[in-house]
Amino acid sequence: PQFPSVEFLTSSWQPRQFPADVGAEVAFAGRSNAGKSSALNAITGRKDLARTSKTPGRTQLINFFALNEQQRLADLPGYGYAKVPEKMRDHWRQLMERYVETRASLGGVVIVMDSRHPLTEFDWQMLEWTGAQNLPVHLLLTKADKLGRGESMATLKKVRSTVGEGVTAQLFSAVSKAGVDEARKEVLKMLAT
Ligand code: GDP
Repeated sequence: PQFPSVEFLTSSWQPRQFPADVGAEVAFAGRSNAGKSSALNAITGRKDLARTSKTPGRTQLINFFALNEQQRLADLPGYGYAKVPEKMRDHWRQLMERYVETRASLGGVVIVMDSRHPLTEFDWQMLEWTGAQNLPVHLLLTKADKLGRGESMATLKKVRSTVGEGVTAQLFSAVSKAGVDEARKEVLKMLAT
């Protein structure tokens, strides 16, 4: 049990509400419906950890979870694929950019993407922000159970060559649990740096 304790800390919609910027934090990002909540649950071994982030009114907030006094996970608001009001999009954009730019304890970002639709515009935007901060990034190509083995391997290869060095990527499935151990190791590694 690599995560003996995971406790909801707080939800923030602006930087001054963030919990103390101490120790280490790993953030999970992803387009809405990519499978981020399922991935968070599988990696932490919890059934509905990320349900908090899905309660109405919290989907546009950053939800922080404490692993212990010095380590946290941050569930970043999913980027909507449906039309969201421009004002909300602007707020989302500002919040994400400020978070990635200013969070000193941020040890790395996991970007969750549907392996059938990897590297969306949102994903590239996140890669731009993390790249500017030289942050470690790990890509989870999830719902891999929906692809055949050949297809998923080809996707992984293509994604790896597209993002280039410095960004790691793996196949993942919250359903078959394929890649859960590998993902957990990456999160622990980013928390340790
Ligand atoms: P989020 O909006 O990014 O948090 O996405 P969710 O975790 O809520 O997942 C969105 C939908 O995809 C739900 O219907 C999940 O059951 C489904 N889903 C998530 N992960 C997987 C997976 O690994 N395999 C399959 N087949 N479905 C998944």
